[in-house]
Amino acid sequence: MNCAWCGRPGDYTVHRYVVPSHDEKTYICTDCIEQIHDMLVDEAADRKLKAADDFSQQMAKGTPKPHEIKAFLDQYVIGQDQAKKFLSVAVYNHYKRLMQPADAKDDVDIEKSNIIIVGPTGTGKTLLAKTIARLLDVPFTIVDATVLTQAGYVGEDIESLLTRLLQAADYDVDKAQRGIVFIDEIDKIARKGDNPSITRDVSGEGVQQGLLKLLEGSIVNVPPQGGRKHPEARMIPVDTKNILFICGGAFEGIESKIAHRMNSHVVGFNTDSSRVSLSDKQDYLRYVAPQDLRSYGLIPEIIGRLPIITHLEPLSRDALLQVLTEPKNAITRQYIKLFAMDHVKLSFDPDMLNFVVDKAIEYKLGARGLRAIVEAIMVDAMYDIPSNNVSEFTVSLDYAREKFENAHFNAAAVGS
Ligand code: ADP
Repeated sequence: MNCAWCGRPGDYTVHRYVVPSHDEKTYICTDCIEQIHDMLVDEAADRKLKAADDFSQQMAKGTPKPHEIKAFLDQYVIGQDQAKKFLSVAVYNHYKRLMQPADAKDDVDIEKSNIIIVGPTGTGKTLLAKTIARLLDVPFTIVDATVLTQAGYVGEDIESLLTRLLQAADYDVDKAQRGIVFIDEIDKIARKGDNPSITRDVSGEGVQQGLLKLLEGSIVNVPPQGGRKHPEARMIPVDTKNILFICGGAFEGIESKIAHRMNSHVVGFNTDSSRVSLSDKQDYLRYVAPQDLRSYGLIPEIIGRLPIITHLEPLSRDALLQVLTEPKNAITRQYIKLFAMDHVKLSFDPDMLNFVVDKAIEYKLGARGLRAIVEAIMVDAMYDIPSNNVSEFTVSLDYAREKFENAHFNAAAVGS
């Protein structure tokens, strides 16, 4: 029996004991095992150092300052100035926090600034989170809170959101540990009532408790493939301490809770001037505060872990028009690029763009509907033009109207 590695014969009585391999045909001695082990440990340490090095280099090049972050967001997201400002500061501080030396002696511990964005659907919550991730070049994943369930129930375990982040980081754990997770529809896991004792619902408070563990920063064992379908798979420990969580939700109806809180504050003072007079119920959203999220059904511990609250405004008609043409990857720009690949110069009549916005408003689809409407209008042109010898094509209002009417547009199919 010789060691397959160093070739020396094995000896049961001395140190160099020979260990059979899995198939019991090859043997390897303990000296070699030790050597290989040391090599692997060194390699892992090197990898870690390199990752840390890459990160500090990226940071040394300069973490973008809040103004720069906002300017970058401006290129992709229309309006939403307050949210952009809040996000820029939060992200900037998050990265300063990552750079603080682990052995800092001053006892000042910068806490993680997870963010919650409240706003109607289709106003740019996901887009903002995605754009931030693009800027920072960190792994990013979007998870829908509604699919998450408490462990042991049908649905996805909470840990599965880290599986997705790991996948986005190509299973580079160090990279994933500095990633961003966007949890959409966080409002859907709100407790369904004010009495906690009768509402221990699977998809509500239980999930919130599960999420808490991730938000506050802990080491979580993550199944590499996700789910319980692969119980034999080895778990990967992921530290969530430096993962930035951005939560978004429409919180439909929260305006009435905000209004109630704001008006109840002034009871007893009896001065009308101290009442906030707001014409539109949407205006209340800008005053959203932790206690409103609490009365909506988020547990206080979760709210405590989402210290930054910001809101998104519904998009005005003008903003929708801008969404169509202005962002770097605006819908119209995408079509122009597609046609340019067939050497066709595409343009859109301003009237046609107004028509698209009108339809999005009429069908109450907001920005989310713009693409679907343009798609319905453009499908024939995209089908025919590559085979026709045209070098220019302008989408006029009449053309758009005709195509849209013939498309039997199904607004309900414009999913979230
Ligand atoms: P939410 O997450 O708030 O429901 P999304 O960010 O997914 O909405 O927006 C849906 C689509 O609408 C995006 O892909 C984007 O094209 C467009 N959109 C929404 N809001 C904006 C905005 N403020 N600026 C630019 N595009 C927007």
